[in-house]
Amino acid sequence: MKKNLFILITSFLFCLSMSGCSINKKSEVNNKKSLLVSFTVLEDIVRNIVGEEFEVSSITKPGMEVHGYQTTPSDLKRGAKAILFIDNGFGFELWAEKFVSNLEVERVTIANNLDPIFINEDAYKGKPNPHAWISPKRGKVYIDILLKELSSLQPDKSQIFQSNANKYKNKLNKIDEDFSLFINSLEKSEKFLVSCEGAFSYLTNDYGMNEAYLWPINAESQITPKRMARVINLVKENNVPAVFCESTVNSESQLTVARESGAVFGGNLFVDSLSDKDGPASSYLDLLTHNLNLIKKAFRPSTKN
Ligand SMILES: [Zn+2]
Repeated sequence: MKKNLFILITSFLFCLSMSGCSINKKSEVNNKKSLLVSFTVLEDIVRNIVGEEFEVSSITKPGMEVHGYQTTPSDLKRGAKAILFIDNGFGFELWAEKFVSNLEVERVTIANNLDPIFINEDAYKGKPNPHAWISPKRGKVYIDILLKELSSLQPDKSQIFQSNANKYKNKLNKIDEDFSLFINSLEKSEKFLVSCEGAFSYLTNDYGMNEAYLWPINAESQITPKRMARVINLVKENNVPAVFCESTVNSESQLTVARESGAVFGGNLFVDSLSDKDGPASSYLDLLTHNLNLIKKAFRPSTKN
C-alpha cells in the first residue's frame, strides 16, 4: 500500500516537472470557443476586442482576394465548429450566403448596422460600396458594432471587451486625426484619390476628397479603353500628383495611367486583405497607417512619416 502511494506521489511529481502535464493546459486552450471571420481585416479588429477570450480565425488568408473567394470543405469544417460567423456584408463576400446556408451557425453582419455609400457606376450602380473599414472614422463604428454583439454573446466578459475596445479606439482616433491633418493640408485641387478599385469612397467621403478608379469592384477587375482614357484625362486636368493601385490586384493598368498622364505611381494601398506578418500592413491599424504614409509620400515627396 505504502509502495503504491510512493509510486503515485513520485509519478505525480515527475509529471509536474515534465511537459506531459501541459496536456490539461493545452486542452483548455483548445476548448476556447471559436469565432470565424470572413477576412483578415475584420479578424484583427475582432481579436483586438476579445483578446484571449476566443479563438479567432479568418476564412480568407492575408494577401488573398476576398470578393470572389471560393470556400473549401475545410472552411465548412471550421464553420461547423464556430459559435459565430462574422462577415462584412454589403455584398463584399460574394460567397458568404452560400457558405452559411450549409451551416447552423449564428451570424453577425457588420453592414446591417452601417450607413452605406452607394456605387454610382457600371453594373454595380445603386449597390452599397462594401469597403467601409477603409475610413478610420467608420472603423470606430465597426468596433462599436462588434463590442455590442460580442458582449451579448459573452456577457460575463463584457467589461474586458469594453476595456479592450476603448484602448483600441484610442489608437484609431490618433490615426483619424493624422488623416484629417494631412488631408486638410492639401490644396483643393490635390484632394483626389485615384486607385484601381473603387474602394476608397468611405475614406474620400469622410475626409473631403474626390475619388476616381479604374473599376468599381475587384470581383470585376476589367478595364475598358474608354474608362482608362477617362481616368487619364481626369488626372491630367486636375494635376493629380499620384495614382495608386491595391495589393490584391495587378497594377499594370494603373502604371499605364501614370505613364500616360505624367502622374507618379504612388504604390499599392491595402484594402481587402492584410499583408502577412512581415509585410507593411499586418494589422488593421498598420494597414491604415501604411495607406496614409503612402499617400503622404506620393503627394508630398519631402514629407517624413
Ligand atoms: Zn474590394
